[in-house]
Parts: sequence; structure tokens; C-alpha cells
Amino acid sequence: MKYSPVQNYINGKFVDAASDRTLDVISPLDGNLLSKVPMSTSKDLDNAVKAAKAAFPKWSHTPIKERVQVFYKYKYLMEQNLQELAALVSEENGKTIGEATAEIEKCIELTEFACSLPQLVTGEVLEVSKVVASIVPFNFPSMVPNWTIPNAIGLGNCMVIKPSEKVPLSVGRLAQLLKEAGLPDGVFNIVHGDSEIVEAICDHPGIEAVSFVGSTKVAKIVYQRATQKFKRALALGGAKNHLMVLPDAKADMTAQNVAASMSGCAGQRCMAASAMVGVGNIDHIIEKIVDEAKKIVPGKNLGAVISKESKERIERYIGEAERDGAKILVDGRNAIVEGKEKGTYVGPTVIDFVKPEMSVAKEEIFGPVISIMRTNTVDEALAIENANPYGNAASVFTQNGGLARYIIDHASAGMIGVNVGVPVPREPFSFGGWNESKFGVGDITGKSSIEFWTKLKKSTVKWNPEAGVNWMS
Ligand code: NAD
Repeated sequence: MKYSPVQNYINGKFVDAASDRTLDVISPLDGNLLSKVPMSTSKDLDNAVKAAKAAFPKWSHTPIKERVQVFYKYKYLMEQNLQELAALVSEENGKTIGEATAEIEKCIELTEFACSLPQLVTGEVLEVSKVVASIVPFNFPSMVPNWTIPNAIGLGNCMVIKPSEKVPLSVGRLAQLLKEAGLPDGVFNIVHGDSEIVEAICDHPGIEAVSFVGSTKVAKIVYQRATQKFKRALALGGAKNHLMVLPDAKADMTAQNVAASMSGCAGQRCMAASAMVGVGNIDHIIEKIVDEAKKIVPGKNLGAVISKESKERIERYIGEAERDGAKILVDGRNAIVEGKEKGTYVGPTVIDFVKPEMSVAKEEIFGPVISIMRTNTVDEALAIENANPYGNAASVFTQNGGLARYIIDHASAGMIGVNVGVPVPREPFSFGGWNESKFGVGDITGKSSIEFWTKLKKSTVKWNPEAGVNWMS
């Protein structure tokens, strides 16, 4: 489908950006041009911040119970429009309709959490940060924005969001639903663009808090730049998640989980398993992983990767592993989907006998590829996991509770799974990694996000003069 050119959303209206510079928005499914997205300037950002600042006094003084009424309606509207929202996510991002539907269902769950905020922040006096910003990546066009929108706004902030220039359409649709749900103009604003807008967000004196989700390279830039301007910042980065598979693991279940984790959303999840460490003889499980991977077919139950550059990068990694002596058990290179020859597909790829020093073992590939390493002991497996600079997630597959506990205690990652391929904590538990997968304190969702989006005010009060005077009065 062809959409009209993407516009910014400022003070409740869709408006043109100040600059004529645009980028094409291409569907990874078939290479079709969907729209054009403006590369806004700092003037556009300034207009958005002004609108947010103007909306702040009324919105922040609206009682929280009333503020979250907007999110009850927003949740209802997402439910009503679920299929359309999912189709849009699939079209602009390339994931399958099933995956896109799950993404919108997760948006609904995130919004349910925001509806419970009045129950969670009782008894405290909370001040909010006026204008906050959210910078988001391409891989979840709707879910990652919804990590921040309901909580930040429900807690009384006004927001400027900078969507990924690769997937700018879904956030515009969310703005329409928020307005329909009764969100006052100016509380939520969208400014499209690239690094210029991200840098302007970090520098703008009117923005007090910045959340970022994306690659580690950019997370570091944003965290440094925003904190240098004394803003509160939370920047989530990339990942290299390790699955440790022990010989006693249930073979069928493990194989299904591994295959689903590495290939779901075409491997473009920050929680995707991309490194597996087999401890001891697990050949029987690897055979089953190969069988499962072969059931995953591009264009059927496997979506596209985001761009031609991504496809080339992923295929380059597979080539490097082959050249360095690893064994490609299932090869997803040169995948073509009939009738969608311009789509950017990579098939599921299983690489065995990978060495920890190879690039496929160390780096984030962000494609449907699993790199299998072999060790003799759990400690050797943990040493490989611990040595990796990232620390988003890790999982263990075993039937031995003691060993599972040992791995929970010793893996260096923020989210750990036992017999779970994608260990995403569900609300009210929070989402966030460790090490180079997150910069800043706290997590981005759940209870932990409340502290990020609010400021505590402590008031010490005395009305009775007979209470006397002590050292602190
Ligand atoms: P990205 O870092 O390229 O882009 C993220 C945002 O930063 C986009 O809005 C983009 O416009 C902007 N940006 C890009 N380059 C910039 C630069 N040089 N300076 C300033 N801003 C810049 O990430 P992506 O490719 O959109 O998303 C994929 C990455 O996001 C992967 O590394 C993935 O692991 C990570 N991710 C992490 C989490 C998490 O929770 N830790 C969740 C989702 C995605």
C-alpha cells in the first residue's frame, strides 16, 4: 500500500517539517516504496517542545486517576484496531502477521500496566519532569514506543518521540488513537528524523529526561551527550544473548525454543538467542534444532530483515564463520521469496563448531542465525557468556534445578531464563539488561520505570508550635 508522506505530529496536528530532506520508507516484505519520511530540523523539535511545555501545567495537575482514563480508552482502541495496527507493523518492518499481532498484544499489556499506576504510586508525592523524550529503534515499530508512552504520560509528563526513520508509520497511527482516546493536544508529539534530531533532543534545554532504545554504539552517544547536559538518561543498547544447553535438557522442547528464539522476528529482537553453548555431548539436541530450523521458511513463517544492508551484513557474518572453519548446518543465504524478489529475506541459519573468538560468536548479528559453541563444563560455558560485553539476556536448558540456579547466579545478564528461549519479564516486572546492553540506572518498563519518569519530592511539615525545636527544625 502507498501512504501519504509522513508528517510530524505537534500540538495535536500533523504538520510538515521545516526541511525538504526526506528518506524513502521501503517495505522489507517486497521492496515496495510505502512513503517518504521527513528529516526534521531542530526548529521542528523546538516547536514540539514548546507544545509539550504549554500542555504540561494542565496535564500534570490532572489527577492521575483521570489521566489513566485516557489509557483505558487507548487500550480499547488498540484492541478494536488490532488487525489494522498489526498489518501496518508487518508492512513497514517486515515481520510476519502473527509476530506483528503479538507485538500489538504486548502494547495492550503495557498499557494495562499504565492503567494500574494509580494503585502503584499511592502515598507518595511525585513530581514529574515536564518534557521527556523517547528515541526508538526499527525492530518493534509499536511495542518499543509503548514501553515509554503510557507510563511516561500516565505519570504526568509530556513527551516528544523520535521514531526510527525506517519504520515511521506506526507511531503516527498511535498518535491518532491517543487523540481519539482523549489525550489533550501537546501532551504527545512526534518529530521524525535521523541523528540530527537525536542530537538536538540530547542538547535541548527544555527536555529533562531522555530514554533511548537501539544499538550500543548509539546508546553510548545518547547517554553521554544527554548526561553531559545534566539530563536524566536511560539508554538501552544491543545484545548477544547466550543459551546454555545441558545434555539432560528435554530435547524436543529445547530444539523448538532455540529455533523460535533465534528466528522470531527474523532474529531482529534484542532478546533473540544468537549464541548457544552446548555443555558436553548435545549432538542429539543439535540434530533436532536442525530439523526445527528446516521447518522455518522465508515468506511463510519467517519475515524479512529490515533492509538490503542488513541482509548483506548478516550474510557476510555467515561467510566469515564458514571461512574461519565453522560448519554451516543450515544455510539461510541467498533466500528468495517467489513473487517478492525485492524483499530482503535471510533463511534460518545454524552454525556449529563456532569458536568464541569468531565474529559470529562475539558480535550482534541481528538476523536469524544461531552460532553454536561447545564446552565440557558449565563453568567454561559461563566464562564465554561472562566475557561478552553485552548482558541483555541468557538462558539455560536443563532438568537439573541446582545447575539452573548456578547459572541464574553466575550469568552476567539482566534477564535470565530457565527452559525459556526469550526470557522477557512480563509486567509488573521490568525490562532491562546489564553491561553494554544498558546505560543508566533502573529499567525501561514495569515498576522500575516509575522512578525514571518521576521525581520524588520530600516534604517535612510542622503545624503545631508546641512541638518545640530540635536540631533539624
Ligand atoms: P539504531 O541505534 O541504529 O537506531 C536507534 C535510533 O537511533 C533511531 O531512532 C535512529 O534514528 C537513531 N540513530 C541512529 N544512528 C544514530 C547516530 N549516529 N546518532 C544519533 N542517533 C542515531 O538501532 P536500530 O538499528 O534501529 O535497532 C536495532 C538495535 O536496537 C539492535 O542493536 C537491538 O539489539 C537494539 N534494541 C535493543 C533493545 C533493548 O531493549 N536493549 C530493544 C530493541 C532494540
